Amino acid sequence: MGAGDAIRNLGIIAHIDAGKTTLTERLLHETGALRFCGAVEEGTTVSDYLQQERERGISIVSAAVTCWWRGVQINLVDTPGHIDFTAEVERSLRVMDAVVAVFCGLRGVQAQSEMVWRRAVRYGLPALAFINKLDRDGADFAQVLSQTRVLLDSARPLAVAVPVGGGAKPLAVVDVLDGRVDGEAAAAEIAAALSAARAQLLEGLGELDDEAMACYVEGREPASEVLTAALRRTVLSGKAVPVLCGSAATGCGVRFLLDAMARLLPSPAERLSSPAGRRLFGISPAALKSPEAGRDFAVLTVMKVFRGAWPGDYAAVRIYSGGLRRGMRFRDVNRGTCGVVGPVYRLNAAELAELPDGASAGEIVGFGPTEGGELPPMFTGDTLVEEGGPELRLMRMRFPEPVFSLSLAGVSAEDRRRLPEALRRLAEADPTLRFRFHPDTGECRLSGIGELHLEVARERLVTEAGVHTRAGQIQVAYRCTVASAATVESEFRRVLPNGITLQAKVQLQIEPLPRGSGLVVDTPFRESTELPADCLDAIDAAVQESLASGSPSGTPLTDTRVTVLGASTSQAEASEPAFLSAARMAMGDAVAQAGEVVLEPVMRLEVSAPLNQIGNVMADVTARRGRILQNEPLAAGNARIVALVPCASLISYATQLRSLTGGRAEFTAEPACDEPLPAGVPGPKTR
Ligand code: GDP
Ligand code: MG
Repeated sequence: MGAGDAIRNLGIIAHIDAGKTTLTERLLHETGALRFCGAVEEGTTVSDYLQQERERGISIVSAAVTCWWRGVQINLVDTPGHIDFTAEVERSLRVMDAVVAVFCGLRGVQAQSEMVWRRAVRYGLPALAFINKLDRDGADFAQVLSQTRVLLDSARPLAVAVPVGGGAKPLAVVDVLDGRVDGEAAAAEIAAALSAARAQLLEGLGELDDEAMACYVEGREPASEVLTAALRRTVLSGKAVPVLCGSAATGCGVRFLLDAMARLLPSPAERLSSPAGRRLFGISPAALKSPEAGRDFAVLTVMKVFRGAWPGDYAAVRIYSGGLRRGMRFRDVNRGTCGVVGPVYRLNAAELAELPDGASAGEIVGFGPTEGGELPPMFTGDTLVEEGGPELRLMRMRFPEPVFSLSLAGVSAEDRRRLPEALRRLAEADPTLRFRFHPDTGECRLSGIGELHLEVARERLVTEAGVHTRAGQIQVAYRCTVASAATVESEFRRVLPNGITLQAKVQLQIEPLPRGSGLVVDTPFRESTELPADCLDAIDAAVQESLASGSPSGTPLTDTRVTVLGASTSQAEASEPAFLSAARMAMGDAVAQAGEVVLEPVMRLEVSAPLNQIGNVMADVTARRGRILQNEPLAAGNARIVALVPCASLISYATQLRSLTGGRAEFTAEPACDEPLPAGVPGPKTR
């Protein structure tokens, strides 16, 4: 085995309350990494370590924990279930090699399961499923298994562990591959469950794998190694998802899940060399060889940056190539900055244990600044390359644009003074959080993905930076685009008191781009102009500033291309302020001439509710200008709808849905697209 073969980097994904945190705790306990098992209710779990998480009983920030099972090192990332913390889910999936999807054995596939699942599929991640809470009365393994068939769609769920008993009776879990049993049950019941499950597994696997097919056709009972190998091939190619089950609360069946992680999921090297891995990273092994050192250059992805937070400043990184050790110099390819690696840590939620020998490819670790030094500014998704290594950028992480915003002001003078730096640190660790101080009013606007997201950000300002803020009403973060193309030439001219004339002319074109294109700025004239660099930079700055602050309503622009066609001056000396003003004027004129179209963010909303209430929910969604896309029954007398709903209609939706359904419905919403604001609907307040 080469280095890293005995590592598994796994993300645990699930709907909120399915039992991710409890399962993580149980996995640690089962592997001996934890002597005591913490409980979510008591706020004593390892992975829910932020104060807000313990208070709210939900996981907000992904925690990485490590455990060892049968000689395999398993790095687990417990992701938050709440979609407002989508950046956390996204960044975890990007650095993972496989996922474990946890489903609640009572509620089955829930509103958010699909959203998270679609993300995992996008990254081509091999997966296991774990049907949890089978100790609870009313849990229904067969029902949830059949629901996963619909959810998984392109991959086939194959039960490799099945329950016997459970609910009112004691729970036992039978391992279908080896026939082992966890828990107590009658021998006849176990034998019956095992033979039925084995037949189903063989049949399912036979359709996916030639070798398994041969056994199936010949009616041969394959050896368990043959079965395991066939299963592993189908998992790595994304054709099958093995389904396990049990109870995170009691630990029943959790050993078989650990076995499946070690036996069926890919090592970091297997992930990188898989078709999905090559597509995502595109690393050519030859480019990574350091000729002098005779080893590979280190290449890392920044997963997350922690600053000014207990237990200290560090960056959590995934190592894709080479090794990470103290004293190594690196370049942040995305920022163009450099730094030196200080101590390297094993991550165990919020505890850092120093690794004196550093860490190697395949690992997820943390590193801090050198003594007395500071980490350079780094952001989630950045690629770090060892000094001298190739200029490569690993796949970007994709984060949605913020859709809600809040105006914020410090309570005391001291709070106001410290607010910008505190916000900068929060936003550095969370790419879906943005803030902007308005240059004229000094007002700060904080924007994010949801109400809970912004609320937690404000709480973190208090707990992590001691900055208290007053907030305005939550608002929709509108953007705008232009209605048509326009080409303008604007001239700025002013005679100063000393008789000097400032004069500059800028020609530019503005045009709308398809939805989702973002902003594009082209400056073809730079090739031929003789203007000095500071004037060219002034034009760029004015264009960027106008795009960000919008014109004339103060709404930032998106889906727009600006092409600076030319710039000139009649004066002997080109003046930077003159070009700045001319470019600002040109942007204002261009937007005015092209016409501004306000876009409103639209969310993809999923609601699950009892069947007899789903009609009310749909009527309410329609009244909120929503468009229903899907409507389907779920387990246990529930139904689910999917709709596109303007963000503006979802402010306080949680409270309103609760009162509409007596608290029996749940929903998730994630940013989907921007659409033109219909006539007659109030939009952004103009400034
Ligand atoms: P998360 O939101 O996915 O992290 O879910 P938690 O781990 O916080 O669990 C949600 C609730 O379900 C908590 O009250 C847990 O104690 C409970 N729970 C989790 N797993 C099980 C289980 O296997 N059996 C039972 N009976 N309760 C469980
Ligand atoms: Mg949790």
